[in-house]
Amino acid sequence: MSQYWSPVVHGLTPYTPGEQPKLANLVKLNTNENPYPPSPKAVAAIQGELGEDGARLRLYPDPNGDSLKGAVAKHFQAFSITPAQVFVGNSSDEVLAHVFQALLKHDAPILFPDISYSFYPVYCGLYGIAYETVPLDESFAIRPEDYDQPNGGIIFPNPNAPTGRALSLAQIETVLVSNPQSVVVIDEAYVDFGADSAVALVNQHPNLLVTQTLSKSRALAGLRVGFAVGHPALIEGLERVKNSFNSYPLDRLALAGAVAALEDEAWFAKSCQAVMATREQLSHELTSLGFAVLPSAANFLFVRHPERDAAALALALRERSIIVRHFRQPRIDQFLRITIGTDAECNLLVAALKEILA
Ligand SMILES: *Cc1c(COP(=O)(O)O)cnc(C)c1O
Repeated sequence: MSQYWSPVVHGLTPYTPGEQPKLANLVKLNTNENPYPPSPKAVAAIQGELGEDGARLRLYPDPNGDSLKGAVAKHFQAFSITPAQVFVGNSSDEVLAHVFQALLKHDAPILFPDISYSFYPVYCGLYGIAYETVPLDESFAIRPEDYDQPNGGIIFPNPNAPTGRALSLAQIETVLVSNPQSVVVIDEAYVDFGADSAVALVNQHPNLLVTQTLSKSRALAGLRVGFAVGHPALIEGLERVKNSFNSYPLDRLALAGAVAALEDEAWFAKSCQAVMATREQLSHELTSLGFAVLPSAANFLFVRHPERDAAALALALRERSIIVRHFRQPRIDQFLRITIGTDAECNLLVAALKEILA
């Protein structure tokens, strides 16, 4: 019945999310979810918003998400961020979709790394945006100098995904300074696990937009909340697209939970530190098993075994009820991306790998 499709639909290549298996008792290390629960204060706030009878759900939520914009601004108060510099949306994927349409669709092709978040080319396909990829260097790092060339915009994650490698703020500033004519978007989905946030640079660079999500470091992938921080003019461009698409992208439960999660800095710091400590331990153990492990500032490791095929390893792990992510993509088809789980989950992974490699 595809004759009913709009012509544009025939040309789309949609994003393939990591598997969300329906099986119980899997060690799930494939989609970079947080192994720890979200802040209990976030859970209580969601329950409070729901109330005894859910009567508040009769009413539309705040279309502007002002409470959440305030909480984001407060979280970044050290960098003097105001609510007018914050955009909020139903996940950072949705925020990114609006960013591509509102800020990255110009005549010149946009730039992003050859190895990066695989949703970027999908948005380009959806909105008809031309792009060019910029190869990472041999050590899978982004070279800031490579972005000193004509472009319609620049986007990359920091830390990059799926490599986990991070740039310093000085390196990001190099990209900003050599591209004053275009918007530079830094996708900070993983920044809280060990990189410095470019939100620190927002007040110096009107062409910088930083996106973040509550899915990873705040353990709220199921709530779907993301945001962007940048110059008020960039935010206004995003609001124009959002208000031409969905007036109420964030529901009442998401707004209440997200605000409480952002306010609970102690819980946030503790769970990020736990993930980082496990990451260092797992990195050490995988290195002892002969894996090459890229330095990671994220909640995952990107690893390669010099003598074992990555797809075969992923399959052998799956047979032992452990799932990791393998990308059938040039340059990285011999790598596995392994999400940091609890210590117990990582111990199961190491034990399984020992058995497979033996
Ligand atoms: C997970 C991820 C996102 C999306 O996060 P959501 O808010 O859950 O949509 C965006 N960018 C990168 C690089 C990610 O890894």
